[in-house]
Amino acid sequence: MTDLLSLAPDAARAALTEWLDRTGEAAYRIRQVLPRLWQRPVARWADATDLPAALRAALDREFPLARLEATAHQVSNDGTEKFLWKLADGEAVESVLIPEGRRRTLCISSQVGCALGCVFCATGRMGWRRDLSADEIAGQVRAIIVRDPHQKPTNVVFMGMGEPLLNWEAVDVALTILNHGDGLGIGARHITVSTVGILPSLAKFAQRPEQFRLALSLHAPVPALRRDLMPIEKKYALPDVMKALAQFSRRVTLEYVLIGGVNDSLDTADRLVKLAKPLGALVNLLPLHPGGAPGLTPSPHAQMLAFERRLKRSGVAAVLRRSRGLDISAACGQLRVELGPRRRKVGAEEHAGVE
Ligand code: SF4
Repeated sequence: MTDLLSLAPDAARAALTEWLDRTGEAAYRIRQVLPRLWQRPVARWADATDLPAALRAALDREFPLARLEATAHQVSNDGTEKFLWKLADGEAVESVLIPEGRRRTLCISSQVGCALGCVFCATGRMGWRRDLSADEIAGQVRAIIVRDPHQKPTNVVFMGMGEPLLNWEAVDVALTILNHGDGLGIGARHITVSTVGILPSLAKFAQRPEQFRLALSLHAPVPALRRDLMPIEKKYALPDVMKALAQFSRRVTLEYVLIGGVNDSLDTADRLVKLAKPLGALVNLLPLHPGGAPGLTPSPHAQMLAFERRLKRSGVAAVLRRSRGLDISAACGQLRVELGPRRRKVGAEEHAGVE
């Protein structure tokens, strides 16, 4: 048995072509079978009713299709939808679908939990449980399309649970599946990887020829403050991360969660200008999710506006984002944490935020 969904589309095509040939099927069947993986996906081969029943049964035996099952689905007043997916081993991850005009951005997870323990993040408090496979990552998009083809995401952001660049092998394949014409066919400029700055994988990501977008979870413009918020700063220090970003040939986004009295002063804004301006980076300012992390409070709205103004007046492109899905658990890791084994109820801001 082969898991076709965990293969990059070229490898899946090769495996299917070889099998069709070996089993005496007509060569044209590849044009009917391959699109059922990603382009016009089916939950199970039995649903591909344009294929003969015997072929569907044989495909099911040889290439069973893994499925992500939605065990919870919440819809916010603002249209944001949150899905909790059950994985084959009983673990669970979540995705958030955010409609905005003609855009439908899906925020996907790359790990179950996260080892990095950023203080403002619910997923960080779960700890790391395991990495997702490529089909579980791209499968979050697939599962949305299987539920309703009209909801196919136009944009994908790796800003859900986990640090994608700590699961590079699977993320590398998932990026190919998301972008490839025989995969989900989403333009590279519409796919954003958000990272805290894992340098070895960042270099590999930068080498990919496609125009994938990069967002850095910054959250503090100076190493000492960043170390307090994000323990990873001890391993990959901000000056080194900024050097790596300067090598990146495309425009970078800096994600910045505004935490009251912690990183929202105008002095801190001036420090942020010094980082963002030479990079020509866009700064995404994100309100801390209300209810927030223990001991942290959201920045007051007036302060957030003043912070944004300071950046803009200094010549930095900045956008203050709205919190989405406030009436549901639409912050990364929050639904999983609420419904998880310990039933601990916490609120937190997402891995980074959504452009
Ligand atoms: S913000 Fe991202 S990197 Fe930090 S703990 Fe949460 S999921 Fe992990």
